[in-house]
Amino acid sequence: MSNYFSDLKDKVVVITGSGRGIGKGIAEEFANAGSKLVINDINQETAEATASEFGAKGVETLAIACDISKQEQVQDFFKQIVEKWGKVDVLINNAGITQDTLFLRMKLEQWQRVIDINLTGTFLCTHAAIKYMSKAKSGNIINISSINRLGQAGQANYSASKAGVVGFSKTIAKEFASRSIRCNVIAPGFISTPMTAAMTDKAKEAAISQIPLSRAGEPADIANLALFLASDLSSYITGQTIDINGGLT
Ligand code: NAD
Repeated sequence: MSNYFSDLKDKVVVITGSGRGIGKGIAEEFANAGSKLVINDINQETAEATASEFGAKGVETLAIACDISKQEQVQDFFKQIVEKWGKVDVLINNAGITQDTLFLRMKLEQWQRVIDINLTGTFLCTHAAIKYMSKAKSGNIINISSINRLGQAGQANYSASKAGVVGFSKTIAKEFASRSIRCNVIAPGFISTPMTAAMTDKAKEAAISQIPLSRAGEPADIANLALFLASDLSSYITGQTIDINGGLT
């Protein structure tokens, strides 16, 4: 790792849903930058396995399993972090789910669960973290939206949640800029993770055929931007949504 991101050394970086996929890829790059990692996931096994994997390489880690859509669990989650390390420097709201179906078939529960995790989970984690950041008059929040915030057939719930994340983030950027807390959004396109592995081969081929750079993105593509947005190199950037999609938009 070059010294571009030397300011991230020893920073406490919380990544929700980082047991696998994009979140794990982000954790890996922050580990390389010398950050202390909080690996969260609703799945305790993957949270612990990922934290042990980084721990074995000498990275300081804390694994905390919790469902980010549950307020009490989230409050306890951040309490544990502050008890161990005394601060929260960077929060990356990455955990997210899809429950796709065409609108007329969409049940309220499918709408609600996606909104609860993708949008309300982002609210709850931000709410819990920002009180520590405000006291420290410093902090950095990165929220993961999606290209499909712009609308996608079969994803009324997901698109609404990911568009909501953008409006939410712009508001946080405006409310907390005076306390030196920045908040930006990364909007990935098609990235190779267990989430997209669930698609049929035909659907994957169709998706990739639309991408000008002719390949799916990798978690590391997202992680590199997260490093930049969390570091002082981007100190004049806040309230922005940055697309990473191989040229799709
Ligand atoms: P993934 O399914 O591979 O990983 C998501 C992780 O979040 C899983 O480990 C899962 O257990 C965890 N999680 C789910 N619900 C949770 C909850 N309530 N509390 C805590 N953890 C929870 O997905 P991914 O592809 O790595 O996606 C990561 C983020 O990127 C999501 O917000 C997703 O919407 C977004 N995204 C992904 C793509 C893509 O192409 N993969 C594209 C655009 C946006």
